[in-house]
Amino acid sequence: MTARGIESIVPTHRLLEGGGFPVRRPAALGRLTDPFLLLDEMGPVDWPPGEAIGAPAHPHRGFETVTYILQGRMCHEDSGGNSGVMGPGDVQWMTAGRGVVHSELPHPEFLKSGGVMHGFQIWVNLPAGKRMMERRYQDVPADEIPVAESDDGLVRAVVVAGECLGVSAIIETVIPITYLHVSMLPGGSLKQTLPNELNGLVYCFGGAVKVGAEDGVELVEDGEMAILTEGDEVTFSISEDAEEGAELLLLAGKPLDEPIARYGPFVMNTEQELRQAFEDYQSGNFA
Ligand code: MN
Repeated sequence: MTARGIESIVPTHRLLEGGGFPVRRPAALGRLTDPFLLLDEMGPVDWPPGEAIGAPAHPHRGFETVTYILQGRMCHEDSGGNSGVMGPGDVQWMTAGRGVVHSELPHPEFLKSGGVMHGFQIWVNLPAGKRMMERRYQDVPADEIPVAESDDGLVRAVVVAGECLGVSAIIETVIPITYLHVSMLPGGSLKQTLPNELNGLVYCFGGAVKVGAEDGVELVEDGEMAILTEGDEVTFSISEDAEEGAELLLLAGKPLDEPIARYGPFVMNTEQELRQAFEDYQSGNFA
């Protein structure tokens, strides 16, 4: 097995998304993070009563949005009448495919009471042959998402997609994807198999984690995204004498290696397909 290390560290910046909610986002994702198009950490933000903001109706075509809520409650609703509520630990893997128009808003009760909203939305690209597939929702409540735990109890991994410590995800992905939320305590370590054909990245959103094995170890800190080098496995660890644990997302996927024509919520292969997406959206041909 060849250990993966860190190819580069990508800093994050804060900006407002949707109707004006704060996100922390790594600088532009590109070839080395293919098939991932976007990684947004939503908040954490402590909304006063009546002020929480989400994303009013907007379209998507050509890819998947994956929403994972850590704190807070939100509602989603699409123009086809699909709707649902998401709370802590819930995952929505939405394949927009040929098109969806939806809203993602704070739950009315959450809006009224205020509170902390925290979560993630990542965008996963689709291969050309699947870009226009029928839309598909996989809404999985927290208690149905598999969780892996190390024997020493120092590592816990929510297995959104892929496999960890012998525990497999229940969500189906169009192309091979690994999506783990790993929580580690001081002294913990995790060796994760990650086949060489997958691009891998690590986003740390609490504490700091050591990535790599033996002399190739580098630290990834809160708010940093690390792009992994090639290899078959990756090791995460935290020193026994560290003051705190770490929270991280491990994302890996098979690169599509296709041309991308992208504008806002539309991701296609060619400019012609992009123009068609606009036309279809404007003529109401998405719902
Ligand atoms: Mn959306």
